[in-house]
Amino acid sequence: MLRPFITACLLTLAAPAFADSTFVFPEDQAETDFIANEVIATFYHEVGHGLIDVLKIPVLGKEEDAADTLSVILMDRIWKEEAAAEILRSDAMTYAANADYSLDDTDPADFADEHSLDIQRYYAVVCLFYGANPDARRDLAVELELPEAKLESCPDEWAYASGAWDKVLEGTEPGPKKKGLVMGEGQEDLELAQLLADEVASLNQMIGLPEDITVWVADCGEANAYYSPDDKAITICNEYAQYLQEIWAASE
Ligand SMILES: [Zn+2]
Repeated sequence: MLRPFITACLLTLAAPAFADSTFVFPEDQAETDFIANEVIATFYHEVGHGLIDVLKIPVLGKEEDAADTLSVILMDRIWKEEAAAEILRSDAMTYAANADYSLDDTDPADFADEHSLDIQRYYAVVCLFYGANPDARRDLAVELELPEAKLESCPDEWAYASGAWDKVLEGTEPGPKKKGLVMGEGQEDLELAQLLADEVASLNQMIGLPEDITVWVADCGEANAYYSPDDKAITICNEYAQYLQEIWAASE
């Protein structure tokens, strides 16, 4: 069983667990949907880091939490209800799986990580998503075992968190002099890059940036995804999609 521990942006395996290879989506549609949904949720999180950097957004609290919040906002705003719920469900399933792994062997140092604990991230994203549209999402929140006492405060938590992002994104509408997200060149044949290109197109209709952020799919030597402020680039690792296949297999 994989036992990832949290480092850079998402999670890192103790050693490179996969041979270099371009990721190809599996034939099983449910598995492909899970992987695609979670890659999208993760990409939105990395977009959060990118926006914080290029827009010089002051962050009060953990930047990782702010990026998780933006991920939920983008799920909510870009997708119709059913598809948004499926992305949230995949995101929650991944946090739950990561939490299972880490609880096997919790290291006190995990509590010092820049990320909140996986189980906290699980409840946070479910709470925010529910809070954005409580009438439509109550059954989902209950199914995902958001505590009854928590349901009450989630709409307020959503209002504060989405309101904060709306405030810092004021004036970032796309325009002729604006830049935005761009896919790195030469990735047209990569299935993960094709998935991300659609997200890039959607986001560029919502947000204009003072400088470009380039999006890459790459072999990283670890299951990860990250934003590099030096390169103004988001990288989604092939190994991360492969790791999601492992989570799917373990859930079967
Ligand atoms: Zn992050």
